[in-house]
Amino acid sequence: MVRLDDIIELAKANSKSIDVDLIRKAYVFSAKVHRNQLRLSGEPYLVHPLDVAYILAHLRGDAATIAAGLLHDTVEDTLTTLSEVETIFGEDVAHLVDGVTKLSKISFSSKQQGQLESLRKLVLAMAKDIRVVLIKLADRLHNMRTLGFLPGERQLAIAQETLDIYAPLANRLGIYWVKAELEDLALRYLDPEAYYELAMQVGKKRGEREEYIAKVCKVLKDELTKNGILCEVMGRPKHFYSIYNKMTARNVGFDQVYDAFAFRVIVPTIKDCYAAIGITHAMWKPIPGRFKDYIAFPKANGYQSLHTTVFGPEKDRIEIQVRTEQMHQVAEEGIAAHWQYKEGQPELAEEERRQFTWLRQTLENYQDLKDPADFLENLKLDLFPEEVYVFTPKGDIKELPKGACPIDFAFAVHTEVGMHCIGAKVDGRLVPLDYPLKNGDVVDIMTSTHAHPSRDWLTYVKTSKAKSKVKAFVNLQQLARQAGLGREILEKEMRKLGFALSLLSNSDVIEQVLSSFRIKELDTLFAQIAQGNVSVRAVIEKIAEIKKLEIAPSKEEGVQGRQSPVVKPSLRQGSPVRVDGIDNVLVRFGSCCGPVVGDTIVGFVTRGRGVTIHAHDCSRIAGADPSRLIQANWSLAGPLRTSVEVRVTSKDKQGLLAEISKTISLAKVNISKAQVYTTPQKVAVQHFTLDVESLDQLNRVLEAIRQVKGVIEVERLKRGYAQALNR
Ligand code: MN
Repeated sequence: MVRLDDIIELAKANSKSIDVDLIRKAYVFSAKVHRNQLRLSGEPYLVHPLDVAYILAHLRGDAATIAAGLLHDTVEDTLTTLSEVETIFGEDVAHLVDGVTKLSKISFSSKQQGQLESLRKLVLAMAKDIRVVLIKLADRLHNMRTLGFLPGERQLAIAQETLDIYAPLANRLGIYWVKAELEDLALRYLDPEAYYELAMQVGKKRGEREEYIAKVCKVLKDELTKNGILCEVMGRPKHFYSIYNKMTARNVGFDQVYDAFAFRVIVPTIKDCYAAIGITHAMWKPIPGRFKDYIAFPKANGYQSLHTTVFGPEKDRIEIQVRTEQMHQVAEEGIAAHWQYKEGQPELAEEERRQFTWLRQTLENYQDLKDPADFLENLKLDLFPEEVYVFTPKGDIKELPKGACPIDFAFAVHTEVGMHCIGAKVDGRLVPLDYPLKNGDVVDIMTSTHAHPSRDWLTYVKTSKAKSKVKAFVNLQQLARQAGLGREILEKEMRKLGFALSLLSNSDVIEQVLSSFRIKELDTLFAQIAQGNVSVRAVIEKIAEIKKLEIAPSKEEGVQGRQSPVVKPSLRQGSPVRVDGIDNVLVRFGSCCGPVVGDTIVGFVTRGRGVTIHAHDCSRIAGADPSRLIQANWSLAGPLRTSVEVRVTSKDKQGLLAEISKTISLAKVNISKAQVYTTPQKVAVQHFTLDVESLDQLNRVLEAIRQVKGVIEVERLKRGYAQALNR
């Protein structure tokens, strides 16, 4: 029976600074709450958590992991509550115990749909905190070691689940010894006949085999040493389940499984690995197609080695694996080898970073793995077409529907992050907000307190949370903007007639006006004016009527209450731009910047003259009142001709201007103005004013000019800038 001291001794060997008190405290608590409980074996229940904790110490678990191992069944099997665990042992331990308890409730026994769902949860749990899965693996390993005490039916179910889920998971984590032991234990219950036959065969020929192994090791080591390679050579039979797999796959008997042995050569450097393979191949004939370079192309779980199969000294096939000491450690311990402790304190950041890199790689590599023998390696995330798994920069996983964009992610992190998202980086690179996220992406959201959701987002967000939040905001904002605009329109029209908007400040007047239009809120009335649904003239007339004021007929309008000339609800199709929140209002283009169809544009809500459209980087906009800026997008399908200034710098060469002009007209672009300057350095600077229909066309013509021989630089000028140069 494992004793607490065994666990502590092992834990201290891993890390001198490990929190022994935490482990002791967990032991005392576990012993207390599990007292009087027995396992089916008749042993005290405490044996189980002790063994689990011991396995975790072997896996180089930290203090919290080992403590959680001791406590892992307390919440499920005793009266202990999670909050009790948290109060006594802290958040970290409680989180681990909670994770294991939840994981235990997932049943992997049902195949198909339910199983995929469970796997999905498992992958998620694994991604959130790998330690939870380590504890679960340790728990399963001990339960498998003591499976004999369960009734036969349970044995089969648990053994099958172990083979389907836990052994592949251990493999995925690269913990070879746990994988091998789980597989052999599972085989013992699933196919006892084959298992005991194998055990007998291996046992019967043990002497013979050991002699053979020793011989191969010696020949190999001598040859490598002779060639100046420091090395260690080991050989051992593969574990039962892998021999069993080979026998069933090839439908052969034990005697015909030649590569039942694996030989390992451990050398100091990577260079030595390749040299050793070369020497081996010179000595023994390699079997073509069996050389595998997992050093250049590591397996998803981080495994690295060179593999080859050769015809050995007795002309039988032997598999040889060559690796460095460090690779060997990873091959044996997998993820546990990454648990790096520094003298003094565990280096958590480094640990997390490694764990995280591994995980990303794992998730990414689900797609590439082809080994049909491995369940989890077969598991493509494509099996879950509805989800992508992405990460915060801190490594937290977020599950989003496929096609989700950074905005969905931002809302998944926090509503406030979503509401103020201005940009996103994926794996450190800037991406557009409609970028479809991919599995394993690390998403970093940039926020600004001034930024707000835009209506456009609704066209690409996928999660209901993002959708509803954006919609609510857009609706509110739309109403506010329309109201503001409507109010200005009304004020301006009233002023023209010699009235002040303050006429509408009396609540009695407001109520009468509103009720006459059957509108409940003043802002709604203003919004209706902005949209052109309520005539501004009619509103003024109503106010005049209530206040018993006379309206002088204006020159350009009859008294018919026609729509104000200021607002021209444009009902014709293909209005060139769509302004966020204010449909059907007159838009005009800023004469300052002259945006081309396709340029990023922004609207400016003028006082009483609708909305002016500017290029987003127009200098006029830079100084404008931000509260008057409004999102605008191109919406027209047809062309809209705009003039653009372009500067072409070229060599001062005869005929070059003609060549450039020809290029421009070949692109079917009209030159409305051209000016040429020459510098003393024999450089010609040409300014063209081009009439273009879209940014696409502009970019094409600029590219065509760039291709003209002798052209040094081509750039589009902002109008203000061009004028400054022309002076
Ligand atoms: Mn347990």
